[in-house]
Amino acid sequence: MGFILKIVIFGVAAYTIWKTANRWFNLLGGNRPPTAAAPPPPPVRPMQGSRVEDTHPCPGCGTYISVSAAKCGRPDCPQT
Ligand SMILES: [Zn+2]
Repeated sequence: MGFILKIVIFGVAAYTIWKTANRWFNLLGGNRPPTAAAPPPPPVRPMQGSRVEDTHPCPGCGTYISVSAAKCGRPDCPQT
């Protein structure tokens, strides 16, 4: 049983060393072009109002709340 355990540990160690060596070779200028590492992020679209929820002042206290909400829900609001 100890023999199998040694083989497993050796395999994990060899794999770790192999991956570390590959990473170092890439850092030191491997044969991989740097532009193919990651695709460029998609361009950020301008805000169209769909993401950010519109707000309007509460008719009772003036606190800006969501348009979908009828009232702010504050305990000290005269609207409630
Ligand atoms: Zn209010």
